Amino acid sequence: MQMSPTELDELGARLRRRAERLHAEVAAKKHGPAALEVPGIDRERDNDDISFVISEAEIETGEAERDEVELGAIERTLRRIEDGSYGVCAECGVSIPAARLRAQPLAARCVPCQSERERALQRR
Ligand SMILES: [Zn+2]
Repeated sequence: MQMSPTELDELGARLRRRAERLHAEVAAKKHGPAALEVPGIDRERDNDDISFVISEAEIETGEAERDEVELGAIERTLRRIEDGSYGVCAECGVSIPAARLRAQPLAARCVPCQSERERALQRR
């Protein structure tokens, strides 16, 4: 079963909010906490998170890269939602079950293709 258009809209909105946060976090790690003064960030709601991010930024140097990897995956996913290819396996073209997409919204492949890819990466 495929995701409904409403569900896709909601997922897109969630991913865009997450991308905004990640953009701010990546910038904060590169340029310092002042970069968190980004329009569109809900300061009230996110306050605790942001102070956590600022203190972590001083000790975590590798985390900016992980955020950028996630950000890249979110942006690819948003493009796939927009062009209608979301939910189709990038490898074999099969429809990815909605249950998998709900659990792993950034999944670009069906489970068999993803497992195959992970095995291939491990062989290197
Ligand atoms: Zn596949």
